[in-house]
Amino acid sequence: MSHVMNTYARLPISFVRGEGVWLWDGEGKRYLDGLSGIAVNTLGHAHPRLTTALSEQIGKMIHCSNVYQVREQELLADKLCSLSGMQEVFFSNSGCEANEAAIKLARMYGHKRGIEMPTIIVMEKSFHGRTLATLSATGNRKVQAGFEPLVKGFVRVPYDDLEAIRQLAKNNRDIVAVLVEPIQGEGGIRTPDTSYLQQLRQICNEQNWLMMLDEVQTGIGRTGKWFGHQHTGIVPDVMTLAKGLGSGVPVGACLAAGAATGTFGPGNHGSTFGGNPLACVAGLTTLNVMEQDNLLAHAEQLGQFLRKGLADGLHGVKGFQGVRGMGLMIGVALDKPCTELVKLALAKGLLINVTADSVVRLLPPLVMNQDEAQQLIDILCPLIRDFMQA
Ligand SMILES: *Cc1c(COP(=O)(O)O)cnc(C)c1O
Repeated sequence: MSHVMNTYARLPISFVRGEGVWLWDGEGKRYLDGLSGIAVNTLGHAHPRLTTALSEQIGKMIHCSNVYQVREQELLADKLCSLSGMQEVFFSNSGCEANEAAIKLARMYGHKRGIEMPTIIVMEKSFHGRTLATLSATGNRKVQAGFEPLVKGFVRVPYDDLEAIRQLAKNNRDIVAVLVEPIQGEGGIRTPDTSYLQQLRQICNEQNWLMMLDEVQTGIGRTGKWFGHQHTGIVPDVMTLAKGLGSGVPVGACLAAGAATGTFGPGNHGSTFGGNPLACVAGLTTLNVMEQDNLLAHAEQLGQFLRKGLADGLHGVKGFQGVRGMGLMIGVALDKPCTELVKLALAKGLLINVTADSVVRLLPPLVMNQDEAQQLIDILCPLIRDFMQA
């Protein structure tokens, strides 16, 4: 029996190495990675420039405490701020920790304004992580069940429903922030109305609320822009990042701008590992390679190619409800539970994921080329076709 705690229903396979968009198991069978470890492996596997940069950094220094100046952290913070227009960055090791920082920041922002029970608006079907505060913010009962009492200070509205938020603005004086994903990832690749974030920005301005975007999944080029909200022209007050930032090395970030800037002072928040030199070099190298290789435009173009190929390949299939998403964050919506497709795809040498029970999710590495994308389409479409007809 395994001594690993039983928190995942794992598939009976393990990989021994990877290269680009390919992974190999112990028997030498090759798999096409359509998932990137859930939006993590931005540069694919064993990217030469990342391997070199990390090896060099490991040879110099892996860790150094945040009680000292950390040069690599300064550089990554500068880079993230210049790409986003944000002003300051706290580094964590994961997405949930980045969101914990955002939640703490919003509470402190509220207290500084004399609000004793600061409350954050969160969304139905959202996902923000598995720590107590972030699972309380998450809009999925399965994530919360068994862990009550939940953390207080959240009020929930349907996603993409501005009227519900306007109602709260009228009746609730304790609200300090809104926390929302630009596209809901775990919730089923759900994209809001094109003006949703802009109007939300407007409401936050009027109410002096912090607009906090969870870009843990949508950030770092996933949707074809550096950050998902950049499709809309707004700038948030708080933005969280993680998944794709370090191309596999754990690193998360909570960025602040505008009214959120300067909320934390020394002693208000911290992390032993957060923003260590190795993690920050992973982040810097990821962003540099993305720039040099023009991966944003590539993610946009390849995303269009994949979405069109999938939509054409599934045209007329009964129960197929359409292809959703932006860039390389793609959902194929079906009208019935389809988790079984994950195993069927695995047998054909393709890694995919199913989220919200009935949405096939694709989050391929940003370095996937068109030929590889075509192979993905050629494997996946017949599988879904047969599955829906069975
Ligand atoms: C994955 C995810 C998280 C949690 O990130 P962890 O690194 O697993 O803690 C939070 N928010 C969103 C939108 C995510 O997709």
